[in-house]
Amino acid sequence: MRIDLHAHSTASDGTDTPAELIAAAVATGLGVIGLTDHDTTAGWTEAVDALPAGLRLIRGAEFSCTAPDGRGGRISVHLLGYLFDPASEMIVAEQARLRRERRVRLHTMAQRMAADGLPVDPDALLGDLPQHASAGRPHLARALVSAGVVGSVKEAFGRYLAPGGLYYIGRADTDVSTAVRMVRCAGGVPVLAHAMARRRGPVVGLDVIAELAAEGLAGVEVDHPDHTSDDRTALRDLAATLDLLITGSSDYHGSNKTAYLGQETTDPEMLVRIEELAAGSITAVVG
Ligand code: AMP
Ligand code: FE
Ligand code: FE
Ligand code: ZN
Repeated sequence: MRIDLHAHSTASDGTDTPAELIAAAVATGLGVIGLTDHDTTAGWTEAVDALPAGLRLIRGAEFSCTAPDGRGGRISVHLLGYLFDPASEMIVAEQARLRRERRVRLHTMAQRMAADGLPVDPDALLGDLPQHASAGRPHLARALVSAGVVGSVKEAFGRYLAPGGLYYIGRADTDVSTAVRMVRCAGGVPVLAHAMARRRGPVVGLDVIAELAAEGLAGVEVDHPDHTSDDRTALRDLAATLDLLITGSSDYHGSNKTAYLGQETTDPEMLVRIEELAAGSITAVVG
């Protein structure tokens, strides 16, 4: 049974619709797929409706957060929440706030590019997004690719969109301790995503993860395309010490990234633990 618990759809910055993602999971031979769009549950219904017999869907989301960097500043971290109640007032409000902020921020980034003569249309960029979908830099990156400004999404990040880049704008993300509490209060299971993805910038110290574990963090994503084998070992050891569950996932984004579905997988025993922890909340959907 192959289990991939972290994937994105067009409800955020993936390129497959939720139904296409489900079809891709079937084609890849996965037994379980986690749908974890950034700051939204907007793709859940379509994914459930598309679920064929034999595939199990874990509904989730990836929460945009910040954590202390240990030097008095803050850094960006992502928290996966699985099987939380999507009607949780706190989560509904915070995700709506972040989606609004994402749209304003992306529009401003596009406007600054247009003002400098780059061929992007801020209004068209956002007009194309479905309701309740999360706008992200990959949407702007694709527009730049379409306009022929850059050759790839990766190049767009390297030249313009990464922190420190000419058009990068930050965002007021959720404090990660608050997000852990939000997910727990909604009956869900919080798992820290790609904690050691150094390519994206500075990463949290192991002491911060230990603190989060004391505050209710249930697990860490160990096997992730952006993790080196040394980082995987360090995270695995830490998880054993703190009794955190561990996951492995592709973080599939369709053609916006090179990772393919099922590239990294989660041990079935860990999925059992996730579902046990979520008992009393929503359940996995079985096709
Ligand atoms: P945002 O949500 O607007 O902060 O954009 C972050 C998203 O951009 C991440 O979830 C990734 O999907 C993607 N991303 C971040 N860095 C890169 C990169 N260097 N190349 C391609 N995609 C990236
Ligand atoms: Fe993403
Ligand atoms: Fe992420
Ligand atoms: Zn992700």
